[in-house]
This record gives sequence, structure tokens and C-alpha cells, in this order.
Amino acid sequence: MTVTGRLYLCATPIGNLGDITYRAVEMLRAADVIAAEDTRHTRGLLAHYDIHTPMTSYHEHNKEEKGAELTARMQAGETIVCVSDAGLPGIADPGGDLAHRAIAAGIPVTPLPGANAALSALICAGLPLEGFTFVGFLPRKEKKRREVLTRVAAYPETLIFYEAPHRLRETLAALAAELGAERRACAARELTKKFEEYQRASLGELLAYYEENEPRGEFVLIVAGADENAALADDVEEMSLTERYEAHIAKGLDKKEAMRRTAQELGISRRTVYQALLAEV
Ligand code: SAM
Repeated sequence: MTVTGRLYLCATPIGNLGDITYRAVEMLRAADVIAAEDTRHTRGLLAHYDIHTPMTSYHEHNKEEKGAELTARMQAGETIVCVSDAGLPGIADPGGDLAHRAIAAGIPVTPLPGANAALSALICAGLPLEGFTFVGFLPRKEKKRREVLTRVAAYPETLIFYEAPHRLRETLAALAAELGAERRACAARELTKKFEEYQRASLGELLAYYEENEPRGEFVLIVAGADENAALADDVEEMSLTERYEAHIAKGLDKKEAMRRTAQELGISRRTVYQALLAEV
């Protein structure tokens, strides 16, 4: 007879320690082992709920060996609860890989639902909720980041991004440049914590605000989809090359970036834009 254990993917609080379910606490107590992204971090949560289950670390850098070992333990009948530092494991966090391994090995996988920064920010942003795309952290390299943003720029649904405070300004600048400074957005900060805050404004205004105010804490950026800008886009259709270029300059882009965006919109080279602008003067 084969004995199989089970993998539980357990949400943990994203700030307020009260944001955990009764069932999650029960399962954390009952499990054979807790696979935690950072055992020191999770120790605080376990102490708060008087949980004494053994822990083992499972993270991005040991997921190969540890994933194989944990899968073998579940095949032998153990119950494992996987947690990340905050929110849902597998969402911009370790856990997804372990779930894939368990599924491939025929081990049952069950969620212990709860806190998640992306959806919590989305429902408070005041932007359309009919559909949304979770982008998560953008690539750091400019070229890759631009590729992702060019792809999602035309998506009609609301977009969700994660960002660290020290990269927030750069990311807002990239979003304003690629998606348009006028797009409505919301910077959701420190959700469920003491300094929870929402800045609801256009991307350009958010950038200006955080140029003035040092970004602190954890952020989710919610950005309206392209559909919201459809009316604006219709006006843009009618615009000449020079009008487009000048509109970008008026939004605060530098000359090079304004030429690049004009070229992209018209499907022509930057050189052609440059020459057309020269011919005007
Ligand atoms: N697994 C988590 C989840 O389900 O939301 C996400 C983990 S990801 C490594 C961490 C990022 O989530 C942060 O950089 C920030 O963008 C976002 N985040 C997590 N907690 C947050 C909070 N309390 N307020 C705002 N953003 C938060």
C-alpha cells in the first residue's frame, strides 16, 4: 500500500499578525513539518500562536535538493505546510516549485487561503475590478522591463505590480513612460500595518509625489488598464507627429524618450521622427 501525505500552501499575514485563519493555525500545529522561506522570520509568527511544529527552510536557493527531500517525505506519508515570509506562497515567493513537484508525484495539494498583498491592494485602489493582470515585480534590466511593459501596455484590464521602496521612483518613471503619465493608478503602502496608506492619482502625479516624498515601506502599484484610456486614445489617433511629440514633452518626458514613444506609436523609426521634427523648424 502506498502512503501519501499532503502539501498545504498556507497564507501568512502581510503585516497584521491577526490576519491568519483558524484553520491555518490548526494545520500549522498539526503538520509534521513546516517548510518556511525564512525560519527566523516564521519563528515570530509561530511563537505568537504558540505553535511548536518543527521547521525546515525551503527557499529559492535550496529548492532543488530541499524540494526533492520534502517530496520524498510527503510520499512517505508526512504532512507538510509550506509558508513564505508573507502572504500566499508561490505568489512572487517560493512555494510554486514545491507545488509542481508534489502534483507531479501524485501528492494532494491544498491551499490554506488568506492574506495576499496584490488582491488586498486591488480591492482598495478604486480602479476597475472586472478583470486584472498580476505582473508582480518588473525585471530590473531596462530592456527586459520595457519588453514586459510594452506587452501589457495594451491590456484592457487593471495591472498589479509589486515593488520595493528603493526602486519605486524608477518603476513609476518607467510605468509613466511606457503606459502614459495620465493613466490612473494607486500606490498602496504598508497594507494592514500602522502606516497603511493609499495614494490615488495619475502615474505622472504619483511620480511627482514620490520625487518629493521618500518612499518607505512595502508597496503595491495598481494601474488602470488601457480601456480606461480608450477615449484619450481616440483623440491621440487624430494627432500629428509633432503634436504627439509635444504631448510627450508636456507630460515631462525628455526629448529622447518623447521621440522614442512617438516612433513607437506611429510604428516608424526614431530617426524618421527626428528628421520630421527637424523639417518643422
Ligand atoms: N507572497 C506575497 C503575497 O501573497 O502578497 C508577496 C511576497 S513578495 C516577495 C513581497 C512584495 O509584496 C513586497 O515587495 C510588496 O510589493 C508586496 N507586499 C507584501 N506585503 C505588503 C504590505 N503589507 N503592503 C504593501 N505591499 C506588500
